[in-house]
Amino acid sequence: MQLPVPQHIAAIVPYPPGKPMDELEREYGITNAIKLASNENPFGPSPKAVVAIGDMLHNLHRYPDGSSYSLTKAVARWIGVAPEEIVLGNGSNEVIEFLVKAFVGAGDAVITSHPSFLMYQKFVQMRGGDNVVIPLKEMDHDLEAINRAISDRTRLIFLDNPNNPTGTLIGRERFARFLADLPESVILVIDEAYVDFVDPDQRIDILSSIRNPDKIPAVVSLRTFSKVFGLAGLRVGFGVMHREVAALLHRVRQPFNINLPAQAGALAALDDLEHYESTLRKTAEGRAWLGKAVSELGCRPYPSYTNFFLIDVGGDATRLYEAMLYKGVIVRSMKAYGYPEFIRITVGTAAENQRFVTALGECRRELGYGRD
Ligand SMILES: *Cc1c(COP(=O)(O)O)cnc(C)c1O
Repeated sequence: MQLPVPQHIAAIVPYPPGKPMDELEREYGITNAIKLASNENPFGPSPKAVVAIGDMLHNLHRYPDGSSYSLTKAVARWIGVAPEEIVLGNGSNEVIEFLVKAFVGAGDAVITSHPSFLMYQKFVQMRGGDNVVIPLKEMDHDLEAINRAISDRTRLIFLDNPNNPTGTLIGRERFARFLADLPESVILVIDEAYVDFVDPDQRIDILSSIRNPDKIPAVVSLRTFSKVFGLAGLRVGFGVMHREVAALLHRVRQPFNINLPAQAGALAALDDLEHYESTLRKTAEGRAWLGKAVSELGCRPYPSYTNFFLIDVGGDATRLYEAMLYKGVIVRSMKAYGYPEFIRITVGTAAENQRFVTALGECRRELGYGRD
């Protein structure tokens, strides 16, 4: 066999797959492991979504509505735009893919930051595009360097705001200045997966940029049901964008990209403000409690606007990650992201947070970190 694989496909490093929980538990001889590694909602999905999905199951022999009419309308009402300004995806990941498919060809360039969300660069590689990667500056997007990196080949700029994994936020004035300086010929994609966790007073005014693209580039906001709504397993996300951009994305979209239970579940979740609000409240409480508890252990937590944050653990992060695994606590080492002594943790339930702090203290003692 000799596979006719194109160079740009051969060069792709596959997304590192996480091991399933039961497999990890077997391998490490642990039970009741807790996962604080993927920024999921630890409080579970909206109960209303669970009921709506159950009610939908007897219809599984039917194709879903290819336009996701009801969900699109409800999302548009929630955001405050028209349905024509919304494009739903199988996770916001799929909307990233649509953007790259619609606007990037071989030899075109896309600007991203590093470290930030990995998937932007993967989709660009799949298309044979060129990734122009700008290192973070003081753990935040380096907007000046990004602007300098723009060329006439640049099609898209991806910025996650707040940034994953550092949790930093681009404020209103900085964003306005950056946007005003951009050439109109690029598309600026702001991945707002965590914006729900940001105080409304601190959010950038993205809707007016999307809707009035006068002398500024097209702006796209990406949102997801995977985080605050607690529906990561359902795979629903969406983009908010000018209707001309949306019309182009629909050209590269499969007709049934949002499956039947996903349409029903996301629709019901939008109607469950109680779940949404209580997730935000409990996350804020957990973040404050964790920040204090981690500091008391002698680690340095980094300020974050999200449901996760970085912790400087004062020693090799990957060894600590391994040691924590044996105690059934799954965190993420930031070594591969260029922060060898940082872990990233997701805010969990009160009991999970307590267990994490206990394990962190024990593991750092065992490894002899921070003894000075
Ligand atoms: C979690 C996350 C998403 C969500 O992706 P989905 O495909 O909607 O699950 C998107 N962007 C960033 C930066 C994230 O951290």
